[in-house]
Amino acid sequence: MEVKAAKILWTRSVENCGMRYMNVLSVGDSKTHQHLLDVYGDNMKISKEECLNHVAKRLGTGFRNKVKECRSKGVIIGGRKDGSLKESPILKLTNFHRKAIQDNVPDVQKMKTAIFASLFHTSSADKAPKHNKCPTVVTPWCFYQRALANNEKPKSHSSMKTKLSEQVLEKILSVYQRLANNELLARCVSVKTQNVNASCHSVIWNNCPKETFVSKKQLELAVISAISEFNFGCLNNLSAGRTE
Ligand SMILES: [Zn+2]
Repeated sequence: MEVKAAKILWTRSVENCGMRYMNVLSVGDSKTHQHLLDVYGDNMKISKEECLNHVAKRLGTGFRNKVKECRSKGVIIGGRKDGSLKESPILKLTNFHRKAIQDNVPDVQKMKTAIFASLFHTSSADKAPKHNKCPTVVTPWCFYQRALANNEKPKSHSSMKTKLSEQVLEKILSVYQRLANNELLARCVSVKTQNVNASCHSVIWNNCPKETFVSKKQLELAVISAISEFNFGCLNNLSAGRTE
């Protein structure tokens, strides 16, 4: 359905508006991009951009799947003990991943370094500190590098709130390698999300709840009204009132 609707919108853009879309913002495994590739003919290249929120979400899903996969083999990495892959470290790591991308656009290599810095930082211990990718000069968030920069002795890793064990690191490294590859990061340089679309959809579904069956005409009216409300707020309704 999504592909079909996108194809209709894109195909009529030339005829109706005299313009062509150049990029498509989609979710990782979405087929939409593939179906839009030839919509303006072979000479028109259409690039694909990733929604930053979905990339972070995929990382979280990758972690949770890894926990399940390990459990099925009798290995517990998501238990309650310190260093395990619980829900709170998963949320923090996905936020670190998103921030690493946002803070380092458009440099893909810097994004990658920052992503792996957050992983190795959280899996450091007093016996095996792994802070060589952590920032050393500009606002070092890493307590270890900050102490070294001030010629102080770094405090113990036991006070770290988010910690991952060596066993967890070993298991989730492949998830990071998959979601920090150059190709995927290059598609994130615009730092775009689908938040606006989701927000617009919620206005539409407010006008016309999904649970209630309506005719095509009613649906069209609900969409038109939602789009005008979304783009112009109450201004549109006020000006309509004045002309009546
Ligand atoms: Zn560090």
